[in-house]
Amino acid sequence: MRHVAVIGSGPAGYYSAEALQKQFGDDVRVDVIDRMPVPYGLIRFGVAPDHQSIKAVSRRYEKVALSDNVRFCGNVLVGRDVTVPELLELYDAVILATGAPNDRPLGIPGDDLPGVIGSAAFVGWYNGHPEFAGLDPPLDVAAAAVIGNGNVALDVARILAKTPHEFVGSDIVAHAFGALGNSAIRRIHVLGRRGPHQIAMTPKELGELGHLEDAVPEVDLEDFPPALDDALLEPGQRKSVTYLREFASLTPDKARTIVFDFFARPLRIEGEGRAERLIVEKTRLDDRGAAVGTGETYAVECGLVVSCIGYKTPPIEGVPYEEDRGRFANSGGVIEAGPNGGLYCVGWARRGPSGTIGTNRPDGYEVAEKIAADLAAVGGRKSGRAGLDTLLDSRGVELVTFRDWQRIEAAEAARARAGSPREKFVAIEEMLGARGR
Ligand SMILES: Cc1cc2nc3c(=O)[nH]c(=O)nc-3n(C[C@H](O)[C@H](O)[C@H](O)COP(=O)(O)OP(=O)(O)OC[C@H]3O[C@@H](n4cnc5c(N)ncnc54)[C@H](O)[C@@H]3O)c2cc1C
Repeated sequence: MRHVAVIGSGPAGYYSAEALQKQFGDDVRVDVIDRMPVPYGLIRFGVAPDHQSIKAVSRRYEKVALSDNVRFCGNVLVGRDVTVPELLELYDAVILATGAPNDRPLGIPGDDLPGVIGSAAFVGWYNGHPEFAGLDPPLDVAAAAVIGNGNVALDVARILAKTPHEFVGSDIVAHAFGALGNSAIRRIHVLGRRGPHQIAMTPKELGELGHLEDAVPEVDLEDFPPALDDALLEPGQRKSVTYLREFASLTPDKARTIVFDFFARPLRIEGEGRAERLIVEKTRLDDRGAAVGTGETYAVECGLVVSCIGYKTPPIEGVPYEEDRGRFANSGGVIEAGPNGGLYCVGWARRGPSGTIGTNRPDGYEVAEKIAADLAAVGGRKSGRAGLDTLLDSRGVELVTFRDWQRIEAAEAARARAGSPREKFVAIEEMLGARGR
């Protein structure tokens, strides 16, 4: 019998568990450990609440989660309740699937002013992440700046622009639903250092902005290269740019405007005791396609700044780490191979924060194959889940099982607001209480 611990129950964690099942059949026991009492990582706490069809992908992981040889161990923080060296003693292999939950810092003067928020915190706030429930972002201001030209920036801009009616059918948490309903924000700037051809926004998400109930996107066609150049783009990117061009013909007849500021590099944030404006330098592209400053500056008046410029994996003591790339040091997912306890990584903790949910799948399969090769001649001498239970028991850690999670989920469904599929618990204590033990 092989014993494998997967740390993290997001997409990368569950795809790894699935791959291990396929690799070893009944000859493996997998413990999927998560610091949260609820599974699925960013599917619950990152993917936008008005994108329920994407969140539904978690149903695919249920089959794996409910099989006899895979166990969910929620409410266990690796690094506090149990360490990686301890897990390596207990399991034949340990896979880090811890994601990249920390915001990359903006790193400009004024980025510590009240009203300047990282996207992990802002997205966590509207998705009910326990650590960010008390964020209380300033929505009593006329304008917001969203820094970044990827899908996370689009999510944030869209959530700020939607009417309460447009959240019907979403699982946005009550505190965010109420606050956004009372928001005074009328202008939402989305800033990117480069131009329309360099965006990292997918067509579906971009196209949505053209159909909002009370908001209209605005672009300046001066920022675009000649239309013929679009033919050089790969098809997905071309479609995104086509949507952007179409925004230019929309009539600005709605209460809110989403303004695309291209070639805009944030220099500093100014304000008396809180963010009041973002000072931006106009850029141009150099021969290599990099943004270079032109020296021309302008101010974007805004009382809320949300930076969506990427994420980092927090280091774990004793695990080799690449500081500049913000992820674990690894070669093809292997941190340290070895029959006496190999250490591997998958998903955002392996590659950094890019790609969709499905991009994490091959990682799990690749690592399962490597584990099989590393354990070919050995394995079966570790105590696995029995050892973990003894250790956690001795430390008074209360483990949350997948059945517990199903009870939490049922309790959330039972308290759903009208029109919402569920009303998520926000506090860890509420989640633990809803297990009904
Ligand atoms: C705001 C946002 C919106 C997104 N929207 C989409 C979308 O619409 N469509 C799409 O395809 N992709 C989307 N993505 C990308 C997608 O969410 C990621 O590709 C995917 O979640 C990465 O999977 P992961 O398993 O590596 O990390 P995560 O999903 O982050 O999972 C990591 C897990 O590890 C746990 N963990 C971390 N540290 C520890 C520890 N020390 N001990 C125990 N457990 C720990 C965490 O609690 C978490 O459950 C979005 C991402 C973001 C940030």
